Amino acid sequence: MNKRIFLSFPHLGGYEMKYIEEAFKESWVVPLGPNVDMFEQRLGDYLGESHVVALSAGTAAIHIGLVMLGVEQGDEVLCQSFTFSASANPVVYQGAKPVFVDSEPDTWNMSPDALEEAIIDRHRVTGRYPKAIVVVHLYGMPAKMDEIMAVAGRYGIPVLEDAAEALGSEYRGRKCGTIGRYGALSFNGNKVITTSGGGALICPTADAAARVKFLVTQAREKVPYYYHKVIGYNYRLSNVSAGIGCGQMEVLADRVERRREIHGLYAKLLGDIPEVRVHGNPSSDVNSNFWLTTILFDERLGFTPEDLRQYLDTNNIESRWLWRPMNMQPVYVDAPFYGDGTAERLFGHGLCLPSGSILTDDEIAAVADAVRTFVKSKY
Ligand SMILES: *Cc1c(COP(=O)(O)O)cnc(C)c1O
Repeated sequence: MNKRIFLSFPHLGGYEMKYIEEAFKESWVVPLGPNVDMFEQRLGDYLGESHVVALSAGTAAIHIGLVMLGVEQGDEVLCQSFTFSASANPVVYQGAKPVFVDSEPDTWNMSPDALEEAIIDRHRVTGRYPKAIVVVHLYGMPAKMDEIMAVAGRYGIPVLEDAAEALGSEYRGRKCGTIGRYGALSFNGNKVITTSGGGALICPTADAAARVKFLVTQAREKVPYYYHKVIGYNYRLSNVSAGIGCGQMEVLADRVERRREIHGLYAKLLGDIPEVRVHGNPSSDVNSNFWLTTILFDERLGFTPEDLRQYLDTNNIESRWLWRPMNMQPVYVDAPFYGDGTAERLFGHGLCLPSGSILTDDEIAAVADAVRTFVKSKY
């Protein structure tokens, strides 16, 4: 039996301990410190965007992004339905209501048409426009940002990009997370790079970044005693975690390149099976980091994602269902939804394949072989 092949395992570069040891030597074992500043600097250099604030999680970044956009009790926020729950939950943290928008089949991300339909209909129903739009670059694939920004612009609604899975992805040469008003990144253990747990918010201006830093360190006013005029949060990244991030920044470009290589391998190895389609860049506008390589299989073969997942599991290969859309989640049954069921259909006949940058070509070949054997057995 081969050793287990994981979906997306942390991939350290060997440079992390240097920064962590520095933190210990200087007793910077606290939130904030030189590693946090350096990590933000390096992220900013990579993104070509100088206003980046490191936070304790991607979810925290989305939450603070919504706070900065003024989302409050009773507001509605439009959110891509095909995503992980962390894109939508912060809307509820604010006492606001998520309204879910379906995907289009090219990028699997927010449909600009369904978005506009939702905006018009929410205005008709509530007399107000939604306060913000959360668009997601799912599996690293950039959403159709020009179209989405155009729709958002027509109604004056700001866009927050959930780029948690899309560090290094590009839309028409621009890095994902830098196109909307705010952009959220995640450095959870399974993402393109890890800080063990962490995130960042990409902000439009130095003032906005300063305000974010203030809010996420408990909103302490600058006076000698503890004095608060607004509600704060404890969302800063620790200096130790940021040390891991600084080390990971040294290998980020290699990690993105390797994820793309792995996607290319799958596309080649599975390319001759007409019943299996490897999800690739639908146009030259988008350049995914391929955080996870995903496949769709022909529904007419009569098996479910769970059948394939279990088969791979018995071959010691970890795979995963596509995200179950938010409009299909019990916790969000009452939320309005706009769309034609595209995400639901994708969910019903797709799967995420092991894609960690740590995987070898032989391991990818073993996964592709197992997929081929299973699919051929269904003819
Ligand atoms: C991972 C993820 C998040 C949350 O990031 P954390 O750092 O785990 O809080 C948000 N949105 C999407 C799409 C994600 O994949």
